[in-house]
Amino acid sequence: MDKQTLSFQAEVKQILHLVTHSLYSNKEIFLRELVSNASDACDKLRFEALNDASLYEDQPNLEVRVAFDKDARTITFRDNGIGMSAEEAVANLGTIAKSGTREFMSRLEGDQKKDAQLIGQFGVGFYSGFIVADRITVETRRAGAAADHGVRWTSEGTGDFQVESITRPERGTSVILHLREGEDEFLNGWKLKAIIGKYSDHISLPVLMQKEEWDAEAQQQVTKDEWAPVNKAAALWTRSKNDITPEQYAEFYKQISYDTEAPLAYTHNRVEGRSEYTQLLYVPAKAPFDLWNRDKRGGVKLYVKRVFIMDDAEALMPVYLRFVKGVIDSADLPLNVSRELLQESRDVKAIREGSTKRVLGMLESLANSEDEAERAKYAAFWKDFGVVLKEGIGEDHANHERLTKLLRFTSTHADEGVSLADYVSRMKEGQESIYVITADSLATAKNSPQLEIFRKKGIEVLLLTDRVDEWLLSHLHDFEGKTLQSVAKGAVDLGSLQDEAEKKQAEEAATAFKPVLDRLKEALKDRAKDVRVTTRLVDSPACLVVEEGDVSAHLARMLKQAGQ
Ligand code: ADP
Ligand code: MG
Repeated sequence: MDKQTLSFQAEVKQILHLVTHSLYSNKEIFLRELVSNASDACDKLRFEALNDASLYEDQPNLEVRVAFDKDARTITFRDNGIGMSAEEAVANLGTIAKSGTREFMSRLEGDQKKDAQLIGQFGVGFYSGFIVADRITVETRRAGAAADHGVRWTSEGTGDFQVESITRPERGTSVILHLREGEDEFLNGWKLKAIIGKYSDHISLPVLMQKEEWDAEAQQQVTKDEWAPVNKAAALWTRSKNDITPEQYAEFYKQISYDTEAPLAYTHNRVEGRSEYTQLLYVPAKAPFDLWNRDKRGGVKLYVKRVFIMDDAEALMPVYLRFVKGVIDSADLPLNVSRELLQESRDVKAIREGSTKRVLGMLESLANSEDEAERAKYAAFWKDFGVVLKEGIGEDHANHERLTKLLRFTSTHADEGVSLADYVSRMKEGQESIYVITADSLATAKNSPQLEIFRKKGIEVLLLTDRVDEWLLSHLHDFEGKTLQSVAKGAVDLGSLQDEAEKKQAEEAATAFKPVLDRLKEALKDRAKDVRVTTRLVDSPACLVVEEGDVSAHLARMLKQAGQ
């Protein structure tokens, strides 16, 4: 193939512009991204070689080497992983295939700080090299292809890139960064080792750098032709808990999630018994931009006996825990397991059940902690992820009770953080139901005339204003033997909360007002099923309610809005 010049996809140009302009304050991440790509490439080779061992050629030991050259002002990342064909190089390094890119781009606001955070969440990948380089050369040859099927890809990270054929006897990829003016701080062995060590400690293959020695005569550090690992090269989750610091756990989380913040909580366990696996699961501190998307696959990576199998193995977690990130390494699954097989596997079912319990346990220990700071963490979690966790009430019958205890609400008594148990503990003498009202905003809920009698009597009412709340109520009927009752439905029965005098008054009113009611019923006959005298109002003259068991007025409005 002769040298060709090709243009970047429009989205890539935008990403390149953003990455080089807004990630400058956090520029060392290019080291994380390029080492992680090299490691991914080795994982892919190991996976493909399961079916074709000849792909290892004569180099069975997978590794990544990072070198720098002070005179040429370059940093080179070299791996002996899967490599790329010419077509793959053009597609992978010229377009963005990731789903959600468009949505992601549309969320950028042009505010550098916020955008940088978003880009961090999205994962900048290969293009981050251009933060510090004004030219990147990639030389690669796919495993199994002939030596003369190598490719050289070069770009200055603006509008286009060049590709040409080369001969490359070794399989794998070299990424060569030609540093921009002023980026010489990275031409320093100490610095590179420190940063790469931090980012790659949990990677399961060795990341090697050359040793350096002080040359007294030349009065400078000289690099020797001797390579030594800068990381422990043991996949983090395979190590013993006692040997892992919270910082290492956090670093691993950032690497797999692209989050810039440390996680809220994590759980790391080796499970033995019927099904054997290791789980390292994290709850993020902040919701990602696409949390709402139920089609988005989960954030759990599947390994089998330390071989990477797939990202986003959604069968490992229920949909309502799609925000959980982490790794599950199974000892039982076959290495050639597919997404389809995962759906049916009994081992996977056991893993999903076990992992769900662990995640709920993690949330419970925050929510019920003696420590106020931990409880505050749960409050923060609820703020960001509560709407998603609520989906579990209808989806996960096995954990229904545990989930109901994790719910938090706003009520007429407290602006946030009201659990059903809190509510029950504040119930009035003789109160039998948990009263709730749904509305599309807190203001509407609070000003609802249906609340008047409850206010007057000091009875707490939960104010439900999330879009999923109607749906939640259809799956949440009672808690500790107390039924949930909407104050906007039917003839709210205050039961023994009402005194005799009030009951009598209501009966008298009903008789006295009968002629008025009859006329109103006649006048509204096409629009109202019934017109009744009520005791639920204090100041307002009238209010609308729906029949017990009917779609609530709020839900009816939502359905109408959705065009149904
Ligand atoms: P991601 O790693 O999230 O897919 P990147 O921007 O980091 O996104 O990389 C884009 C793609 O380029 C990768 O998915 C991979 O196909 C290819 N790639 C990057 N670096 C390498 C490498 N060292 N070896 C083989 N392929 C690579
Ligand atoms: Mg990457």
